[in-house]
Amino acid sequence: MVERTIAQKLQALLKLQAIDSKIDEIKKIRGDLPNEVQDLEDEIAGIQTRINNFLNDIKKLESDIEEKRQIRKDSEKLIAKYKEQQNNVRNNREFEALSKEIEAEELEIQLCEKRIREANEKIAKKRIDIEETTKKLNERKKDLENKRAELETIMAESEEEENRLLKEREKQVKNIEERLLYSYERLRKNSSNGLAVVTVKRDACSGCFNIVPPQRQAEIRENRKIIVCEHCGRILASVEEKENSTTAEKSTRRIGIKDNIFSITKE
Ligand SMILES: [Zn+2]
Repeated sequence: MVERTIAQKLQALLKLQAIDSKIDEIKKIRGDLPNEVQDLEDEIAGIQTRINNFLNDIKKLESDIEEKRQIRKDSEKLIAKYKEQQNNVRNNREFEALSKEIEAEELEIQLCEKRIREANEKIAKKRIDIEETTKKLNERKKDLENKRAELETIMAESEEEENRLLKEREKQVKNIEERLLYSYERLRKNSSNGLAVVTVKRDACSGCFNIVPPQRQAEIRENRKIIVCEHCGRILASVEEKENSTTAEKSTRRIGIKDNIFSITKE
């Protein structure tokens, strides 16, 4: 990378800041919509999973019912067989033994019927759950549709501009050394208004509005090193001269850096 003067570095940072501020502006207009769309998509996926779980539960219960029905059928067959045998017993003891067997099978049948009844009740409850959850699912799907449409409209209005700015940013970033870019990004991340590089305006830092002492302002004008605001840590790129300043020296310094940070100076 070509060695750049401090003034050039600051100039490059100011340009990047102007681009980023414009991108921030676009994102602010979009607001929370992209997140809201994402949240709705996640919620819908969650609801869908719940419905699938209910359906799986029902399948399992239905197979339990089928199993119990088979057991009941077997018990009924056994009872019929034992009753048949009771007609051919040789003594009372044999008859009693068969009666006990029949009793046991009858109990088994009762138990099966109880289990079948319980499973059917559970299935009925799950079906109501499915119905209610599906209603909610459809509501959320409708919300998502609306939010997506809203987002699409906003995106259509701003996407082209954003892409242009992103390309411009990519180009501009190449003009800034890595270490400085890193500081810039970190400052931006920690700043509530996204400003990392600001000017001194009416003797104050235009990032935090605290006064910048005259000595510091003089240092900024000298362009010998990068000066940061002692209150907020933002990079102070230049001093915007007051309206009544007339000296030739000051006017020359203003060239190129008088633009406020929201406008990009064309090369
Ligand atoms: Zn400040």
